[in-house]
Amino acid sequence: MYGWCGRILRVDLTRGRITTEALDPGIARDWIGGRGFGIHYLRREVPPACDPLGPENKVVLATGPLTGTAAPTGARYVATTRSPLTGAITCSNSGGFFPAELKKSGWDAVIVEGSAPAPVYLWIDGERAELRPAGHLWGKTTHETDDLLRAETHAEAKTAVIGPAGERRVRFAALMNDRDRAAGRAGVGAVFGAKNLKGIAVRGEGEVALADPAAFKAANAAYRGRFKEKTRDNPPPLRLHGTAITVVGTQSHGVFPTRNFREGQFEGWEAIYGETLTRKYLVRPKACFSCPIACGRVTRIPEGPYRGEGEGPEYETVYALGSNCGVGDLAALTKANYLCNELGLDTISMGGAIACAMELFERGLLTEAETGMALRWGDGAALVELTRRTGLREGFGDLLAEGSLRLAARCGAPELAMVAKGLDFAGYDPRGEQGMGLAYATSPIGGSHMRGDPAYFELLGVPVAADPHSWEDKPPLIAKWQDVFCVIDAAGLCVFFSVRYLVEPDLMIRPVGITELLNGATGAGYTPEEVERIGERIFNAERLYILAAGFGRKDDTLPPRILKEPMPSGPAKGLVCRLEEMLGPYYRVRGWSAEGVPTREKLASLGLL
Ligand code: SF4
Repeated sequence: MYGWCGRILRVDLTRGRITTEALDPGIARDWIGGRGFGIHYLRREVPPACDPLGPENKVVLATGPLTGTAAPTGARYVATTRSPLTGAITCSNSGGFFPAELKKSGWDAVIVEGSAPAPVYLWIDGERAELRPAGHLWGKTTHETDDLLRAETHAEAKTAVIGPAGERRVRFAALMNDRDRAAGRAGVGAVFGAKNLKGIAVRGEGEVALADPAAFKAANAAYRGRFKEKTRDNPPPLRLHGTAITVVGTQSHGVFPTRNFREGQFEGWEAIYGETLTRKYLVRPKACFSCPIACGRVTRIPEGPYRGEGEGPEYETVYALGSNCGVGDLAALTKANYLCNELGLDTISMGGAIACAMELFERGLLTEAETGMALRWGDGAALVELTRRTGLREGFGDLLAEGSLRLAARCGAPELAMVAKGLDFAGYDPRGEQGMGLAYATSPIGGSHMRGDPAYFELLGVPVAADPHSWEDKPPLIAKWQDVFCVIDAAGLCVFFSVRYLVEPDLMIRPVGITELLNGATGAGYTPEEVERIGERIFNAERLYILAAGFGRKDDTLPPRILKEPMPSGPAKGLVCRLEEMLGPYYRVRGWSAEGVPTREKLASLGLL
């Protein structure tokens, strides 16, 4: 096969057995890879009612045909599993260098199943793979584990590991690769911990075989050329200031979530946004494999109580640990970010849980006797300490580790958790971004922006502009965008490049560039229409899985704050999210019933019957 390696590595932790399977060419063509392979294998092998932290659950770690190639941002993989935070699926994706190394070692995917009787790690050395004892690694941070694994295996090996949070099954523990890159959302790290799997080290020196090297090279040069031309005189803001530059857009539109989504503008935004980060703490930008953008941040806090170094913060972290907790101290939130990376925590859900706790405390629904400290908006020291306690499940951290929804429900106020399907929102208030509300509510993993990020067209005009306050036009746009994101995640690409350079807005946002690169790599002869249909197939398959897990229309919703409490101030003042008006038309556009169930005709058209 070309583009694909043609091989799947299956790791049965219960029996300590590793086997190799051929990748079926039909499955490869129909699902592309990454997120597509994830849901294909999950539906086939993991009962939707299984205990996410039990041995029946599996984790599918899958690359795409473009992962490990010279395609711009061909750096990514997707970890798919049943989430211990939400009970839905999670298909968390990450970049860095681990995914390309996995592909170069000759594997399209690793399927992890069962549960090891004692801690182990997986060492993949090209075609050879073995499980090794990891008792000596248990309790180590992600950075310590990365150092030790590379010392024990190969100095150039790349790793994906859990920290103490994953070992303790914190429900939003992340799987961290290359030290600071996270398959962060909805608890992949906790599933690893429950399986006694500390991590994976991989070394691969092969090259991805291309079906038509000349066509691939031409497409690659053309799309990289577009990027170069556009950024020749103005370097991309993401390289200059990282994703934290996004604060400028969200603050000015009044959708920068502040104090648990009570407001949409933060008075301290200038102290925590991208340019301030660049000026105060940036050491250098950092790129993932084959990426011309380099949005990553290597940072250092040179002095003071939060002295340290690491990577981040990204925009979502600045919102979650910053404005949403009322924290305007960049050093404190950056330190909390470092702790999340080292302990192995999702920064978004960490911030969501702390913000929720701060509001519960303010309302008297949590007391100092329960929390062990006063929880006040803007308290950076409390933010850092609560993050540490959560990663170690110490004291009140043990409750935070259950996530914002379980915490709020325990205090009798589940409506104060800013979640969809139990997953904490990303950094955009849906009252001032109507499409984002629909995207959160219908995302198969819950409150994520990365399952079809409407901020591109609602805030940035990319690839087409849409009024962030209008709701009538959003259902078809969101459905289309969600399918395009499935394709990006299946191909092994990063959204940041793809949405600007690899889709054609004039052709109804058609993924023309992605199709050209896929064809050069695989020789599959896809048309853009077929690639779009695969995106739709992936999204519908994910929908079928969560329906079987008990989710439905009742869960395609948002908290009362977003639906009923008008935004108190700013450009979105007076608005609520018009989700109910959007949901029916969205279901119709999707070919789903009024209850949000794909019709037989739709499933037949997608080959899902
Ligand atoms: S744009 Fe950023 S996240 Fe995407 S591949 Fe490049 S460095 Fe990685």
